[in-house]
Amino acid sequence: MADLLTGQSILSRHSASSRHAQLKPAASCLMRAAQMGSDHQALSYSGLPACENCRVCLEACPTGAITEERFLLHAERCLTWHNEISGGWPDWLPADAHHCLVGCLKCQEVCPQNQGRLRYESLDVSFDASETDLILSGQCENDEGIKAKLTEIGLAGYAPVLGRNLKALMNRQFTQSPL
Ligand code: SF4
Ligand code: SF4
Repeated sequence: MADLLTGQSILSRHSASSRHAQLKPAASCLMRAAQMGSDHQALSYSGLPACENCRVCLEACPTGAITEERFLLHAERCLTWHNEISGGWPDWLPADAHHCLVGCLKCQEVCPQNQGRLRYESLDVSFDASETDLILSGQCENDEGIKAKLTEIGLAGYAPVLGRNLKALMNRQFTQSPL
């Protein structure tokens, strides 16, 4: 999917973070875009002219990872990062920041420079109630059926965090609507 996201904007504000390039392989296209270049290449990027008077991504970011005072995003606050590492959610992360199972892409979806560059695909894979319960329980890693489905949709590597992430989404759904 990374080849769908080689828009200039992605190679500006977002992939300029060398820290992003060190993250684990991620479902998010943001991460993959960041991994496309070496640190040297990434650090040599500068903002697009279009970024100068634009704050769209900053305003859309649900975690405050994009700020005025710094061009590089704060990777340690990026939801993509926290969605993909095990453990508890940081205290500062608002419950309503959760909006996807892995990754994030809010900033990419709203960027005017990405118009026409993002592609969404429907995946013909579903999980029944018992499989969902297993995922929520955090015990899905040893279930061959679930593993096969997750592999099919490219999420096998995220099995350890899926239950936690799904719970966060469900909690948000019950307390705020719509998602
Ligand atoms: S949303 Fe605006 S500021 Fe953010 S990367 Fe796109 S053009 Fe630049
Ligand atoms: S991926 Fe999401 S959390 Fe990370 S910088 Fe973009 S909008 Fe913010």
